[in-house]
Amino acid sequence: MVHPRTGGLPDILLHEFSHVELHARVGLWGMLTGAIPAWFDEGLAVLVSQDQRYLDAENEALGCDEVRADSLPVSSRDWRRQAGRHAQRLYHDAACAVQARLADKGGLAAAMRF
Ligand SMILES: [Zn+2]
Repeated sequence: MVHPRTGGLPDILLHEFSHVELHARVGLWGMLTGAIPAWFDEGLAVLVSQDQRYLDAENEALGCDEVRADSLPVSSRDWRRQAGRHAQRLYHDAACAVQARLADKGGLAAAMRF
């Protein structure tokens, strides 16, 4: 899904390439059956693209204390519906949730090695 169009072209391309890579690895069947929650797909794209609207200078999501992954949209349809009203908060919260999920697995750098 395309993120809000306030980032530069390199950020947008990195964001979209993250989706392409993850979707290719999960496969068509996995994507059709919801193997990856929408919040993970979008949050990973925010982290990979180092979108500075949501991250600090060390590319860490800020203000994540109150974010819980189970409050974020799982399906693409729900994501699109909620992103239409609360895009900035939703992308930020998804980045926080992915960051927390990857924290004990070596962080984004470890994920990028696969
Ligand atoms: Zn996206």
